[in-house]
Amino acid sequence: MPQRIAVIGAGIAGVAVAKQAPVGAHVELFDAHPERSATRVATGLVNPVVLKRRRVVWRAAEALAAARAFYPDSVRGSEPIYEVLRSPEEVNDWNALADHPTLGPYLGPLVESPAGIKGICLGTVNESFRVNLRAFADAARSEFTLREVVVETLEPLPKGGWLLNGTQEYDVVVLCEGYQARWAEHFWGDLRFARTSGQGLRVSLTRGPQVMLHRSHFLLPEPDGTYQLGASYGWGISSGTALPPSPQASQTDELLDSARAWIQTEVTVHSAWTGIRPTTSDRRPRWGWHPECEGLGLLNGLGSRGTLHAPLLAQELWSALKR
Ligand SMILES: Cc1cc2nc3c(=O)[nH]c(=O)nc-3n(C[C@H](O)[C@H](O)[C@H](O)COP(=O)(O)OP(=O)(O)OC[C@H]3O[C@@H](n4cnc5c(N)ncnc54)[C@H](O)[C@@H]3O)c2cc1C
Repeated sequence: MPQRIAVIGAGIAGVAVAKQAPVGAHVELFDAHPERSATRVATGLVNPVVLKRRRVVWRAAEALAAARAFYPDSVRGSEPIYEVLRSPEEVNDWNALADHPTLGPYLGPLVESPAGIKGICLGTVNESFRVNLRAFADAARSEFTLREVVVETLEPLPKGGWLLNGTQEYDVVVLCEGYQARWAEHFWGDLRFARTSGQGLRVSLTRGPQVMLHRSHFLLPEPDGTYQLGASYGWGISSGTALPPSPQASQTDELLDSARAWIQTEVTVHSAWTGIRPTTSDRRPRWGWHPECEGLGLLNGLGSRGTLHAPLLAQELWSALKR
C-alpha cells in the first residue's frame, strides 16, 4: 500500500479520495485556487432523480448508500426534495411512474403544496437530502496537510513514484482537479469535457416554503430565512483555463422568470455567485488508475452530481488499487 499520497484538488472529489485513502498512508492535498472550486458554490443536493427528465441518476442506489455512509449526520439535512406538480396530468404521471421498477422507489408520496407556491401538490423525492458541502469540505481539508500551491510540474520518477513541483516525492498521485483538468488531460488525453457554468441566487420571498422545492430550478430555504435559487446552466466554456464568469444579469433574469412561473410571492435578489461544473459530454465521471503510469489515479467529471457520486467513486478507486 502507498505510504505517501498526493491528491491534486481539494474539492469534494479530492476530499472523498483523501478521506477514504488506505489506513496509515500520509495524505497531502494540493489546492491553490479554492475560488475556482465548484464545491465551494455547490448547493450540496444529493438527488437520485433527474427531475427534468424523470429518470434515475446513473448508479443511484450504490451512490446513495456510499453517500449516506460518508457524510456525517452533522452536515446532512433531514428533509427531502419535493417536486412541484402543477396540473392533474403531472400528478397522474407521478403516480404512474411510481410503479416503474427503477424510478418508482424514488417517487414518494404526494403532499400538500405550501402557501405561496403555484402547485396543486408536491411529489416527495425519496432518499434525497442536502449536505452542507462547503462546511464538510472545509472541515475535511483540515484533517490533512494542505499545500496551497498550484501543481506546475508532475513527473514520474525512474525508481517509481512521482515528483511534484520538482521537489516533493509521492508513491501515488490522484488527480481531482475539477474543470481545470490540466494534468488529467496531459496524461489521459482528451477526456471529452463539456464544462458548464452555473449561477445561483440568494433571494428573499415575502411568503416562502420551509421545504426544498424543485420545479424548473431548486428553491432551498437557508437558516437565516433567505433562499437559494438555482442553479442555471451556461455552455461554451471550452477550456480548463477559463475563470468562473462574473454573475450575469441575463442568467439572473432567466432564473427569476422561470421561478415566477411557480412562485407566487415577490422575490428580492440579494446576491449571485457562479462556478464551473466539470461536466463531460456523455455525463459520466472519469475515474480509475492510468493503464501505463503506475501510481497515477483520477477522479473527475462529476458534473452536477459531485455530492452524490464522489464518495462511491473514491471508494472504488482505492479498491481497484488493492486488486
Ligand atoms: C452553482 C452550482 C451548484 C451546484 N449544485 C450542486 C448540487 O446541489 N449537488 C451536487 O452534487 N453538485 C452540485 N454542483 C456540482 C458540484 O459543484 C461538482 O460536481 C463538484 O463540486 C465537483 O467537485 P470536484 O472536486 O471535482 O471539483 P472542484 O470542487 O472544482 O475542485 C477542484 C479543485 O482542484 C484545484 N486544482 C485544479 N488544478 C490544480 C492544480 N494544478 N494545482 C492545485 N490545485 C488544482 C482547483 O483550484 C479546485 O479547487 C453545483 C455546481 C455549481 C457550479
